[in-house]
Amino acid sequence: MNARRQVAAVVFLVIGIAPLTAQPRASAWHGRAQALVRADSIDAALRTLTAEVRVAGTPAQTRTAAWVIGRFRQWGVAADSDVYEVWLPHARRAALRWRGAWLPLAEPPLPGDTQTALPAYPSAAGYSAPGGVRAPVVYVHFGLPEDYRRLDSLGVDVRGRIVLVRYGRAFRGIKVREAERRGAAAVLLYSDPQEDGNARGPVVPVGPWRPPQSLQRGSVYNGAGDPTTPFRPSRPGTRRAPLDSAEVPRLPVLVLPATAARALLADLGGPEAPRDWQGALDAPYRLGPSADSAEVVVEDDRDARPWKRVVNTLARFPGRAYPREQVLLGAHRDAWGPGAADNASGTAVVMEVGRVLARLWRAGWRPARTVVLATWDAEEWGLIGSTEFVEGDSAALFRHAVAYLNLDVVATGASFGAGGDPVLRPLLRSAAARVPAPTGGGSLLALWQRQTGQRQPPMEDPGGGSDFEPFYNHLGIPHLDWGFAGPYGVYHSRYDTYDWLRRFGDPDLERHVAAARLGLELVLALADTAVWPYDFGELARTVAGEIESLARAAPTLALGPLRAALDTLRAADQAFRAATARPLRGAAAQARVNAELLAAQRQFVRPEGLPGAPWTRSLLFAADPDNGYATLALPGVRLALRRGDAVAAQRELDDLAMRLRAAAAALRRASAALRRPTPPRRAGPSSRP
Ligand SMILES: [Zn+2]
Repeated sequence: MNARRQVAAVVFLVIGIAPLTAQPRASAWHGRAQALVRADSIDAALRTLTAEVRVAGTPAQTRTAAWVIGRFRQWGVAADSDVYEVWLPHARRAALRWRGAWLPLAEPPLPGDTQTALPAYPSAAGYSAPGGVRAPVVYVHFGLPEDYRRLDSLGVDVRGRIVLVRYGRAFRGIKVREAERRGAAAVLLYSDPQEDGNARGPVVPVGPWRPPQSLQRGSVYNGAGDPTTPFRPSRPGTRRAPLDSAEVPRLPVLVLPATAARALLADLGGPEAPRDWQGALDAPYRLGPSADSAEVVVEDDRDARPWKRVVNTLARFPGRAYPREQVLLGAHRDAWGPGAADNASGTAVVMEVGRVLARLWRAGWRPARTVVLATWDAEEWGLIGSTEFVEGDSAALFRHAVAYLNLDVVATGASFGAGGDPVLRPLLRSAAARVPAPTGGGSLLALWQRQTGQRQPPMEDPGGGSDFEPFYNHLGIPHLDWGFAGPYGVYHSRYDTYDWLRRFGDPDLERHVAAARLGLELVLALADTAVWPYDFGELARTVAGEIESLARAAPTLALGPLRAALDTLRAADQAFRAATARPLRGAAAQARVNAELLAAQRQFVRPEGLPGAPWTRSLLFAADPDNGYATLALPGVRLALRRGDAVAAQRELDDLAMRLRAAAAALRRASAALRRPTPPRRAGPSSRP
């Protein structure tokens, strides 16, 4: 039990009239919850979800929403759909002709795995432009700015040409943006075996890696949410931005298996590619341009039926003491194929948490705060379902959401990992200490410690790439995510099936069980703990590390005021911890303490957003706009440095120091509220989105 849980346990005993005391102690519910998790019910959900290809906007994917809602209602839980109308053109045809022949792009079904024969989405990227292009081909390595600088130095121009780009290093949307900026006519994204194929190990069906006929689908849209409704929910009939202002590619983008890339490379010609640009294909890696033209064709339904229904599901356990305060757990339900690991796994775990909470509810459990269990649609196209939900309710979420927990790809192997906002990391570690490891022999925390060789296993900083982005990057709501990773070669292919998951990802489903138990521990702690379990000591340590890394990167920056502000925050955190060691003076004091904790945590959200990126409001971590997946710590400062604007960087540092001092002041008020029986004034967050 950590310090905060002790506080919670004390509060249950002390507040004689508070609704919390009507319950057994939190720990009793925790133990019952863990014991109720069942592999067979997770298995049933996985089988049902993977029985169809769940591409957003298709009737099959809409049916899965009805099924999820039906399950929750069978368990006696209030559940509903949350529907949006989104600009989401679907590809109808994707083809590539080379030297007189149409290259095979479809992934062949595997004998013995019927899910690999389900209808497949064409080999075009999500949000590819339609069109037909005939042009010579140039190989551009990962297609990142440094690669184009190298091509410039070698005298290779990509204007008007088709670029062949390897997957890896950055989000595919960034690769397409860079190609478009340089005047390319079309983009071919391919999976090199060095990335996730036979250069890594045995391929499907023998091993978990990508076979050469397999391809990685995916969206090439760099924004979040419906491209026609920035900052607003895309309800039917809402005002739309003109389509020509949408931040989507203007050129066709195909996704290729290694076999097609090999056919192109075999006859590309031109100078040899630099040695470090060579991949693992059995072909000469030359830069081109090819003497022959390739022909790229993408056809879609944007003229006939570009608007699609996107359907989230929301299940609610209403809070008894603080119904407006929310704890959210979510996973995306859509996929590019059968999507077993990505993300039937996360959806099944959210549903298992719901099934168990429903059992607790029937046994008398009533959460202090409202618990919301969500499955999101159209994550794969640009976090669309979750973003529209957040944009539709941003003021209430900003003021009342305690945490957002995200599950995306729960089990592709044995290595446990987790990430999230520093203020919640100690909560996750203490929860992991109470969950048995899937392998037996101790707790999940102990397994994690053994696997990382560290007493306090490192956790990933928030970045980009899943549904936590609208919650954290846009509103600053702290989030956590977790899962078990391994060799995952079938990402976004039709081979990400139930069979793959049971053979390679999680043979006994024990990792799914552990992920669900951890989810229950976190939800119960967040929903019932008297004092919001935010840890500003961990936040101060994390920011201190980032400041030292800034000091090395930019020695001329004046970091003194920032270090002093951090000291202030550390001192306030220590005083707060000392104050929480004593019992709370009543429900009013508890509400005031939590209001001040909210005010402290939301200090690091700037309503007007980052310069040039107004949707991104979190000032501690954001997705790197030049990578898409990677994390950018202190993004305001680092983006200013990247622009070469030292004055703006210093202004951002001063702003951060001011916010750290304001967070410390809120913590001091929280400590005071713990000491005083009757607070003199109301507190609230100092900024709103
Ligand atoms: Zn996913």
